[in-house]
Amino acid sequence: MRRSLLIGGVALAVAVFLAVLLIRTVGLQAGEEPGEIPLPALQLDSTAILERFAAALRYRTISHQDTAQVEHAEFERFHQFLFQSFPEVHRQLEWERVGGYSLLYRWRGQDTTAPAVLLMGHMDVVPVEPGTEKQWRYPPFAGVIAEGSVWGRGAIDDKITVMGILEAAEALLRAGFRPVRDVYFAFGHDEEVGGRRGAQQIVALLKQRGVRLHWVLDEGGAVTVGMFPGVERPLAMVGIAEKGYMMVELSAEGPGGHSSTPPRRSPLGLVAEAIAAVEHSPMPARLEGVAVEMLEAVAPEMPFWQRLLVANRWLFGRFLLRQLQQTPRGNATVRTTFAPTIFQAGIKENVIPSSARALVNVRLLPGDTPEAVVEHLQRRVPKGVKVRLQGVLSLPSPVADVRSEGFRLIRQVARSVFPEARPVPYLVLGATDARYYTVLTPNVFRFLPVRLTPEEYRTFHGTNERMPVGEILRAVRFYAGLLSAGAGTTSRP
Ligand SMILES: [Zn+2]
Repeated sequence: MRRSLLIGGVALAVAVFLAVLLIRTVGLQAGEEPGEIPLPALQLDSTAILERFAAALRYRTISHQDTAQVEHAEFERFHQFLFQSFPEVHRQLEWERVGGYSLLYRWRGQDTTAPAVLLMGHMDVVPVEPGTEKQWRYPPFAGVIAEGSVWGRGAIDDKITVMGILEAAEALLRAGFRPVRDVYFAFGHDEEVGGRRGAQQIVALLKQRGVRLHWVLDEGGAVTVGMFPGVERPLAMVGIAEKGYMMVELSAEGPGGHSSTPPRRSPLGLVAEAIAAVEHSPMPARLEGVAVEMLEAVAPEMPFWQRLLVANRWLFGRFLLRQLQQTPRGNATVRTTFAPTIFQAGIKENVIPSSARALVNVRLLPGDTPEAVVEHLQRRVPKGVKVRLQGVLSLPSPVADVRSEGFRLIRQVARSVFPEARPVPYLVLGATDARYYTVLTPNVFRFLPVRLTPEEYRTFHGTNERMPVGEILRAVRFYAGLLSAGAGTTSRP
């Protein structure tokens, strides 16, 4: 009797346990999807839009680390091209140059006291790596339309944003649209080298003028497949935060001397050991914040067993974390990463260097601090190695609110333009110009409204960068939809 009671009790407990797992899983399965939003009915001349986009790629607006190499005349010519291509924008909006060649536009709304929205992008591009020119199917600055795409440096990063926004604004202006709230467009000219003249100065200017921002949209993740194993549906990846960026120097010194009588430990050996230690003991991984928001949003598209893990993190959290760490992207989403990038020591083959140094590029997860990183490293490097914080380019950004109006609108418009995709938030792993804007509002989002195959996605900053023709038009429709939904719907009678 006692025994059967016990068995019954255990069976009941197991059943309750399984039920809890299942109920939680089914709860995630539902995963509400945003409704679609009506897009403005605009007359878009697709041939002219494609021609203009191809033409934009012919300007060599290249950023170089050494600013003396920048061809400023090309930026000047690109501006002239924009003025001619978008006459209504330049007639009806206020615009100015900032920091040399960045452009800031203000489209006055009917209620200028309401917080404004700001769309941003950048006009500069990265150089073509010397020696790879021949691998391009079409020359990188020829702006060729072929094989269903427009080819050229900047096609993805980031002239599609600049041209997409201006095309949308021009079409809306022609249709008589007037925003209810102020709208700003901010196009940097030095994003690829840190944005100190462009984005940083634009933000300083907006701050000085007391401009209040409702939300901001910058380039970021695109609509793509293959980000999550097992998920077949395309995902519209909307960045809601970005990691911080800092450098740490590891160095050691010693007497040096002739290599025929080496000491037991040399500076070079010590720093090498320190680098190995850094790679072997990363900062702890954490399943929290943006990573959780992302997993929960993707979960409805996951195979059942994966969804079960995500829905029951209280039980499978550690297992999930281990899974995520299998890929470099997944790993970088759940922890602060260390990448040794520079090692300097030695001048001659038979001289023991008296000093050695290495630089470690650190990408900070929201929640981690530079001080905590230095402390973590100090405890792990061998005695005799100095750990020095060399510079913090940016702290981890604040996390934008996924319940805010900006995120809701971006999701809805993304749903309308990309009905095949599920919009999900994610953590941006690189540093972007958007980070400067977080002093004006925490609600800074990062999304590039085009659908790209993984192969196309890999061409940005690389060889054969291109944009599928259909996606150029979808980008224009996305920005038009976002402007009309996000800034008001008033039309002239
Ligand atoms: Zn970019």
